Parts: sequence; structure tokens; C-alpha cells
Amino acid sequence: MRLTCLACATGYEIPEGGDPRLLACPACAAPQAANFVYERAVRFTSAEHPRYADACRAAREGRFDDALAALAEALRAGMDLDLAVGDPALARLRADPRWPDFVRKAAAS
Ligand SMILES: [Zn+2]
Repeated sequence: MRLTCLACATGYEIPEGGDPRLLACPACAAPQAANFVYERAVRFTSAEHPRYADACRAAREGRFDDALAALAEALRAGMDLDLAVGDPALARLRADPRWPDFVRKAAAS
């Protein structure tokens, strides 16, 4: 599966079946165990809404325009707004000044 380094944002493939505790980013050598757990959780919760996974990834990477667009699509596809409001994966996005307005509009539609 593919990981994106939390420290330097380099994307890289990891082999299936390896020990995630031993993972390190190939570009900056930052430990990636927490990143692995995070990515797997995102994949699990967003299996029915691939655009939600896109939103989480974009939010984490600071691409808030992309994150809001992807999240809007996921919500239109039936994604639960409450999950997005409470999801730690979207914490950076919730700090964006557009977030309160976004939630208000999503809740009203
Ligand atoms: Zn890195």
C-alpha cells in the first residue's frame, strides 16, 4: 500500500506483510509506524466513499481547496457529516476559516 510521509510529504509504496514498526520514510528517514496505522484507518473508514479518503489526505497535506471539494463530493454521495465533523483526520481542515460555513451549508442541503 502507498503511504505519504507526515514529515516531508514524500509518497512511497510499502511492501505487504512487513513489520510496520520498522518502517521509515525513504526520503527523510522519519519513522512511519503511526503513519501506517493512520493510513490503514483512513482506508477502512472511507471504503465506501473514496472521495472521503481523498479529503482526508488533502487535509493532512494542507491542500484545503482539494479537501473541501473532495469532502463535498463525499457528502453528496451519502457520507455522514457527523463523521467528518469528528474525524481527527480532518483536524487541519477544521482550522480553515471556510470550515464553519462549509458545515452549515452541508447540514442545510
Ligand atoms: Zn519523509
